[in-house]
Amino acid sequence: MRKVAFITGATRGIGKEIALTLASENYDIAVNYRTMSDSVTALKSDIESKGVDCLLVKGDVSSYEETENMINEIITKWERIDVLVNNAGITKDGLLIRMSKENFNDVIATNLMGTFNVTKMVVSQMLKQKDGKIINISSVVGISGNSGQCNYSASKAGIIGFTKSLAKELGSKNILVNAIAPGYIQTSMTDGLKEQIKEDIAKNIPLKRLGKPKDIANLVKFLASEDSSYITGQVIHVDGGLLM
Ligand code: NDP
Repeated sequence: MRKVAFITGATRGIGKEIALTLASENYDIAVNYRTMSDSVTALKSDIESKGVDCLLVKGDVSSYEETENMINEIITKWERIDVLVNNAGITKDGLLIRMSKENFNDVIATNLMGTFNVTKMVVSQMLKQKDGKIINISSVVGISGNSGQCNYSASKAGIIGFTKSLAKELGSKNILVNAIAPGYIQTSMTDGLKEQIKEDIAKNIPLKRLGKPKDIANLVKFLASEDSSYITGQVIHVDGGLLM
């Protein structure tokens, strides 16, 4: 029987790469999307071409009800979830002085409440299985802070506290909970940065380049595997040495 992995926000960027990487490792994949498009159906075909099953589940992780429907759909199909990757995330940057209440709330609702909504429901299933791996995508700015990102860095710092607390709650139940703190990764989230800013960022990174989604997916592959069976409650940086 193949293991089942559920990846939120898997339509592009880091989430898509994680979905494809775990499919190559022989997991059946549940892909969370919000809007159907040709690229979503193409992703399903790409996953299935690796010889595993793919279920597309529609929903906004900031909605408790939509999340509940997604988890129910996955459990109805496979009766288990072995790996959860809380990847869905947004930014709405701006200095605090100009940040609206809505822009603060929206980022917390998706990044932090979304992680709560999905994890709460998946953990109920993992407790029945007495087995599971939860991998939360945080960020280096959840540790270092970043000017213009009070909302985003608060959400990502919140994910770190959430990860460590849950790891303590679930350690005795054979459910491992870890966080990844990516640095600057080349996706649509960072595409908007001006070229000069990207060059300046790269200069300050010991490895002198931005990361690729595969750099994150490779660590997810390891944390999802049995090779990580004595690692829980950790925040692992994948940032080219940006933060030490
Ligand atoms: P992208 O913007 O490329 O992709 C974000 C994904 O999240 C999309 O699939 C998007 O779906 C989905 N998403 C957003 N909001 C929701 C929601 N409410 N419900 C369900 N899905 C949602 O971002 P990245 O791939 O770069 O980022 C992935 C994760 O990595 C995020 O958590 C981000 O914060 C984190 N990260 C990224 C870094 C980077 O440099 N890129 C650095 C550090 C952390 P849709 O297509 O519907 O918009």
